[in-house]
Amino acid sequence: MIPKPVAQTIYTESFPAPRQFSAGEGLTTIAEELNHFLNGLQSQTTPDESGKAWRLELHTGAAYEHPETYQLEIDQGRILLSAADPQALRYALSTLKQLLFSAHKTDGLIHKQLIRDYPRYRWRGLHLDVSRHIFEPAFIKQYLKLMSELKLNKFHWHLTDDQGWRIESKRYPLLQEISAWRKEADGERYGGYYTQGEIREVVAYATELGIEVIPELDLPGHMMAVLSAYPQFACNPQAFDTMNVWGISEDILCAGKDSTRDFILDLVDEVAELFPGAYFHLGGDEAPKDRWKACPYCQKRIRELGLKDEEDLQSWLFDTVTAHLALRGKTVIGWDEILEGNPSRETIAMLWRGDAKAAALQSENRGYRAILVPNHYLYFDWKASDDSPGAFGVTTLQKVWQFPIDEYFIQRPDLLLGVQANLWTEQISTTQRAWEMLIPRVYALSELAWGKQSDYPDFEARAQLWEDYISYALPR
Ligand SMILES: [Zn+2]
Repeated sequence: MIPKPVAQTIYTESFPAPRQFSAGEGLTTIAEELNHFLNGLQSQTTPDESGKAWRLELHTGAAYEHPETYQLEIDQGRILLSAADPQALRYALSTLKQLLFSAHKTDGLIHKQLIRDYPRYRWRGLHLDVSRHIFEPAFIKQYLKLMSELKLNKFHWHLTDDQGWRIESKRYPLLQEISAWRKEADGERYGGYYTQGEIREVVAYATELGIEVIPELDLPGHMMAVLSAYPQFACNPQAFDTMNVWGISEDILCAGKDSTRDFILDLVDEVAELFPGAYFHLGGDEAPKDRWKACPYCQKRIRELGLKDEEDLQSWLFDTVTAHLALRGKTVIGWDEILEGNPSRETIAMLWRGDAKAAALQSENRGYRAILVPNHYLYFDWKASDDSPGAFGVTTLQKVWQFPIDEYFIQRPDLLLGVQANLWTEQISTTQRAWEMLIPRVYALSELAWGKQSDYPDFEARAQLWEDYISYALPR
């Protein structure tokens, strides 16, 4: 199983594995999903001669020490499920599907057993960049389904960047007419965007799977696509183009003009309405300050507010948007560059540079909550081995699994919300390649986030078995 449960007691008694379930109260949907899952399964063994459906029962009212706990009790002809919340009930289902798959694919027997399981971290994230390359909603759903099988619960959707804006806007339609497109070096027009209807559909699908979708609007840098349609929001308006090369742009949003601030607030309002979750990612990375240093509006803002410098100005802009989003019940996340300024203590830092040790110490010492996503370990656009395709360095399956998470936030473990992997898509233009970069490394992410219960060889063996499971559970 992946992730391996916290506690599993297996008894010697075993029974022919169920081929069908009948539902107890509150379990109709789960029983239907299980029956559907079992229907397509080519068992190695003959069906249970009695042919009787097993009974699926829900035990309610138990209190659990850890949030998201579920429990599975398997005995002849009956499986008892209990869960701390509806989300945890889904985890019970994922675990049960893996157990049934393995039983039917081996000797056809399932053991009497008791599983009690809960996650180590509440933030178990996976990211996807759809700006550098865009992917169909059908693929996004497949991505979410994979996350759900692995008990990952936060989908970080990187929807905007220099190379393309991907959200339909009713208030600023030039975003889909101009910012969503770029002209490649060979003259080809590349791009696209998600309609608000498509975004709502993806979010609804994720919600059903117990996954929260976190939109990212990366600002004030990484905004060339937006400036190509609305150049007036730069410090020095001119004819900008959506970028067709990777890298960092000197041109960013102007933090001095009131019109730019109002534009940002208006835009985050419109986007926030599409995402019912509690978090909103505002980027904040890789924003060179040369333009701000030379901009009369930005310098005036610094003087008027008595700010220290341009980093402080970025914190002010970030805090302005953060306060605005707080009125809508949202908590803001930013990349670790935000710690170079002094943003509001409510802001969550996503620690990505290098092994993230320095940023982790900083956020621990200053009391910022954080999510670990160090590129040395958890960037899945990096090569999986020396001779495999990918960007920059090498992040093997073993390296991901062995990420020494226990060495972080030793003094203030309460500040560490969890862990996430990122899939940047500069070098990834097809769904096939995206999938290959994820698998099997995303299995290791799952165990990091849920909590490792084994050694590496044991994990590696389970990861191999999982290939069969995933190709059955998620046919492509
Ligand atoms: Zn400016």
